[in-house]
Amino acid sequence: MFLECAIEAGVNSLIADDRHLKKSVGLSKSRIMAGLQCHKRLWWTVHEPAAPELQPDEIAQAAMDRGTRVTEVARTYVPGGILIDLPYDSYAERLAHTRQAITDGAPVVYEASFRAGNVFVAVDILKRDGSGFRLIEVKSTTSVKDYHLPDVAIQAHVVRQDGLDLVGAEVMHLNRECAYPNLSNLFTRSDVTAAVVAIEDRVPGWVAQQVEILKGPVPDVPIGSHCATPYECPFMARCWPTLPPHHVSTLYAMKHLTVDLEAQGYRTIYDLSEDVPLGRIANRQRRAVQEGRTVVEPTLARALDAFVHPIAFLDFETVGLAIPVWTGCHPYDAVPVQFSCHAQEADGRVTHHEWLAEGPGDPRPVLAARLIRACETARTIVAYNAGFERRCIEQMAEALPNFAEPLRSIVDRLVDLLAVVRNHVYHPEFGGSFGLKIVLPALVPELSYDSLTIADGVVASLELERLLFNHDGLETAEKERLRSDLLRYCHHDTWGLVKLLERLREMIS
Ligand code: SF4
Repeated sequence: MFLECAIEAGVNSLIADDRHLKKSVGLSKSRIMAGLQCHKRLWWTVHEPAAPELQPDEIAQAAMDRGTRVTEVARTYVPGGILIDLPYDSYAERLAHTRQAITDGAPVVYEASFRAGNVFVAVDILKRDGSGFRLIEVKSTTSVKDYHLPDVAIQAHVVRQDGLDLVGAEVMHLNRECAYPNLSNLFTRSDVTAAVVAIEDRVPGWVAQQVEILKGPVPDVPIGSHCATPYECPFMARCWPTLPPHHVSTLYAMKHLTVDLEAQGYRTIYDLSEDVPLGRIANRQRRAVQEGRTVVEPTLARALDAFVHPIAFLDFETVGLAIPVWTGCHPYDAVPVQFSCHAQEADGRVTHHEWLAEGPGDPRPVLAARLIRACETARTIVAYNAGFERRCIEQMAEALPNFAEPLRSIVDRLVDLLAVVRNHVYHPEFGGSFGLKIVLPALVPELSYDSLTIADGVVASLELERLLFNHDGLETAEKERLRSDLLRYCHHDTWGLVKLLERLREMIS
């Protein structure tokens, strides 16, 4: 569900909104939401709209595009409306067109625009309901989140102040129960009227306070948990101090102890005395850091007994579409569209298998057939964080009854190399993380990700989506470049697993 998080990331809507509002002196819903998280964030967002932190990167841009697409599709589920299709910053025209559509009796208005004082909002869907109207806010999430409520309350307040009789408010979000091709239930409309009414009278106070803040110098706001809640603030690098290597916040699964440990005078793991109780893995981390060496538990040898040749080293790359397009898929299902598999014999010989989908057709039948063939002689199938591969294969087995048995046989042979590293080995450069991108360069230094154009699973997923669903819109050279970068990335992961297991075996010998 990482894509859902990325899509909903408030920073994206803030970036989009404020690119349009650069010349505006007023407040928007998104600015007010930024101010509710942190007044300093609001101040920088308004006074430094060209700040590099506010410019969307590739991931943020893709998330914004996807949110736009979901909103466009949502409109078709509340049909018969008039779209206020004008540039975002044509405030006066947008207000006038909205007023005209309402006066003309439009049953639904999309992007209906309203202003109250110095606050401007655009409502995703405004629907006539009896003698009044309902406000519908479209979200790309699969449920209503607490932070959606002030977002809707701000809109409701402005709409009412602008003179409209608002009788209800809804959040229209994606529905995980929906399965392609039946998209009739793609969205769920959740009534949030009561929850919104309960906080709506706070909006004028929020606005007044933020207007005052914006008139003054940059406010002094200490860092805290609000910096990452509900969205990660884009200004973290400005506010948060650079931490020394092996700061106590890097202790594995013990982040919650950071404040306490710092209060007790422990700044880094080097400072931690032995009597400070830590979890099993964090304790190993302390030993590794303080002794400046890789700690290898004697239990590693036993754990490696599970890796019996022939071995297939497997990695998937997936897309997680908000709006499913393949039979049986739900919103945000991670569907494999690419795999790499290094098959290794007992004598060390390695054969490489790989496959990458070509276009928007269902990739699963061909991928499953190729995967089964690549793994057919393997006694052990190794993945890193194998739960992900397991879920992908189980979903494919359900969708493809003809391949169900051999796919389930792959699941039965899966072994997780991440669990082996996490439970038996710690290198000081892990920094409290067991992600392959950290573990591999630490234990197998010649296999760094630095030389790869695509070196990250989220970027790979976005690029795969671009390659498959914008296939005809890409130049041949661009397609070839993308395919080559994606194949290289996935190959690097599975070749990395081959070398990682080799390295672990060396450690016990
Ligand atoms: S990093 Fe924290 S304190 Fe700094 S602007 Fe962002 S939310 Fe505010």
